[in-house]
Amino acid sequence: MSLGTNPGRLEDFYVIGKRIGKGAFSSVYEGKEKSTQQLFAIKAINKKHIKMKLVEREIAIMTKMRHASILFCKEVFENDSHIYFILELVRGGELYDKIVDHGEYTEEEAQEIILQILDAVEYLHQNGIAHRDLKPENILCATHVDPESNFRHEIIKVADFGLSKMFDREELMSQCGSPTYVAPEVLLSKGAYTSSVDLWAIGVITFVLLTGCFPFFEEGSNYTALYQKIIAVDYTFPEEPELSKEAQHFIKILLVKEPGKRATIPQCRQHPWLAPLVKRKEDEQKAKKSTSNGSIPNNNNNDVQ
Ligand code: ADP
Ligand code: MG
Repeated sequence: MSLGTNPGRLEDFYVIGKRIGKGAFSSVYEGKEKSTQQLFAIKAINKKHIKMKLVEREIAIMTKMRHASILFCKEVFENDSHIYFILELVRGGELYDKIVDHGEYTEEEAQEIILQILDAVEYLHQNGIAHRDLKPENILCATHVDPESNFRHEIIKVADFGLSKMFDREELMSQCGSPTYVAPEVLLSKGAYTSSVDLWAIGVITFVLLTGCFPFFEEGSNYTALYQKIIAVDYTFPEEPELSKEAQHFIKILLVKEPGKRATIPQCRQHPWLAPLVKRKEDEQKAKKSTSNGSIPNNNNNDVQ
């Protein structure tokens, strides 16, 4: 039985172009769909890295997810050696590289990014999926810089959801290096942990976006010391850049050892650090709806000619 959602041969449907990326387990190519001439990214994963027993259900879910902030997976092909994911093409690269190349984000810029991540993760959780490997390397983005204010608007796409379950946990850890974004209960647990591991990771990502450094860090690869810091939730905010009280509190309610006491997605939205942006977005949505319903936007010009 084929794991592909398309039982055909990849080459019959797509022209495979240049390689545009390389991951720990994969190569990513540009591809053009023959029937539509539309461009996609084709992610090829060698089957020997994958726990085949778990893949089928995950692939079925991945190809059903539809959300503006989640990388769209159109279909999947399989041959003797590889699985090929046909993905929405994102030109901007990884959020990780943006932080490395351009430094930390302002609080307003980071709020836009975090809200999109929260929306994406909420959608995944509502569909019974925990990402479990959220980090700036797994967030693709396209940047638009406002030429006047230099404000960096990022349109983000959460990628690699579902994939973390397909790989052997130990292999994933050893290949991906530092477990910087891993929640304490993952390090402590004998197996069971919940989707709130993603909220811990969002706390770490917020810290990284705002400061350009990691909350939990050890020189070299001293993982034992790093694990101890994570388990003890032992981190401090840097003096520079100085974060607002609201930003620090937002991170604090996510970096909570006890998963049951960690902030939930609705609590994050209502938090003073994010609530003004949430309200602005809701107002924009309402305005869009009322114009698309055909009602005339209210202008104050009562001078009817
Ligand atoms: P892995 O999960 O094996 O680490 P990634 O999914 O991170 O592999 O892909 C490796 C690289 O390929 C990424 O860093 C990115 O540059 C590129 N890439 C992956 N998916 C896409 C995509 N949908 N559009 C454009 N580039 C992509
Ligand atoms: Mg990746």
